[in-house]
Amino acid sequence: MRLDYFHTGKADSEIFSRERVVLEPLPWPGNPQKLLDDSNLGPYFFEVRDLRSGKALYSRGYSSIFSEWQTTPEAKGEYRTFSESLRFPLPAASVKISVQKRDGANRFREIWSTIINPQDQSIERVTAPAPAPVIAIAPNGPPALQVDLLFLGEGYTAGELEKCGRDVRRAADALFQYAPFRERRKDFSLRAICAPSPESGVSHPSRGTYRRTLFDSTFDVFGTARYALSFNNRSIRETAAYAPYEFLAIVMNDNAYGNGGIFGQFATVSIDDPRSLPAFVHEFGHHFAGLADEYFLGSVAYAPTVPTVEPWEPNITALFDPKNLKWKELVSAGTPIPTPWPKKEYERRGERNRDRYLSSGPYAGKVGAFEGANYMEKGYYRSEQNCFMLTLSCGRFCAACRRAIDRTIDLYAPKPGQSH
Ligand SMILES: [Zn+2]
Repeated sequence: MRLDYFHTGKADSEIFSRERVVLEPLPWPGNPQKLLDDSNLGPYFFEVRDLRSGKALYSRGYSSIFSEWQTTPEAKGEYRTFSESLRFPLPAASVKISVQKRDGANRFREIWSTIINPQDQSIERVTAPAPAPVIAIAPNGPPALQVDLLFLGEGYTAGELEKCGRDVRRAADALFQYAPFRERRKDFSLRAICAPSPESGVSHPSRGTYRRTLFDSTFDVFGTARYALSFNNRSIRETAAYAPYEFLAIVMNDNAYGNGGIFGQFATVSIDDPRSLPAFVHEFGHHFAGLADEYFLGSVAYAPTVPTVEPWEPNITALFDPKNLKWKELVSAGTPIPTPWPKKEYERRGERNRDRYLSSGPYAGKVGAFEGANYMEKGYYRSEQNCFMLTLSCGRFCAACRRAIDRTIDLYAPKPGQSH
């Protein structure tokens, strides 16, 4: 079942309104042993509870384009609306959907709830045929026991669908070159849907280029040229509904450098830029495991914040309590916390080859707590000197990121013997 809603607000307020409820055409792809999400990731969290008994039936943490937009200057002045969806197993009886957001202390508080009766005749039953065949890239097992990753082609005309098939395979192959995806390749089922768009490529408003495409994808999101996202949530969901999926990768038929990744929504990649494949792996880290950016020099689309509470992201810490470091089990023996590194040299103005300092110093390659992450030079720490979430050229995830990715895989493809 899928609940589509409008998420409207500005910097300091938000409201939710129901758009429609849809019964999707395929059976629920998730693992019945992993209905409840205890990973505590994401700025938002939703719960589905049986209305009569109050029993929790399903829950997941997630993020949204809205929550990133909320931190932009535009959100101080005016309202905007974004379309979002929640998907959950078809309930047997009426349920209460509760959407929760983190408060100042990072605890979840309900900000919206709505009741759905599965017998309601207004629930749409999808009977239309699929817009394009589902391409099986590597279906390895039953959806309930696998991580189901679906690639969607975007900005391919009817004459470019073969290219779309090749491009999605390139993106898929890139992801599984890196640990821990590589080691857990068999836990994933990969599929793709290459449905045609009216025009080729995607929009670049800063160049005056506008393309009409299946998912309304555009560069220049929130004024940042390289930030590329898809805004037509309804079209994304209606297309994706024809394949089992838990995670979505939108492959854009474009040659500029640009990408994006939203936890629990989708990752995007502009596939014909030379850096597209490592960029996709980085963005998939955001989408899949809620990983934070570990870089902190240079500008980003949304405003950084000084830590007042421990961040929820699994790969950064404010280090308020160094003895209880978030990834303390992973720390290399004899490593001081916080961990010194050639930070001054790295941050030096005009430094042309600063990345070399990410692999030098006594603790390079060790796990500790290195200051500088989450767009901030001070106050946030990362687990290793370098990581895919810091530089694309690094080519590997740090220990904290690898563990977070493994945990997300376990939420969809539990190893034998694991239970909730
Ligand atoms: Zn990392």
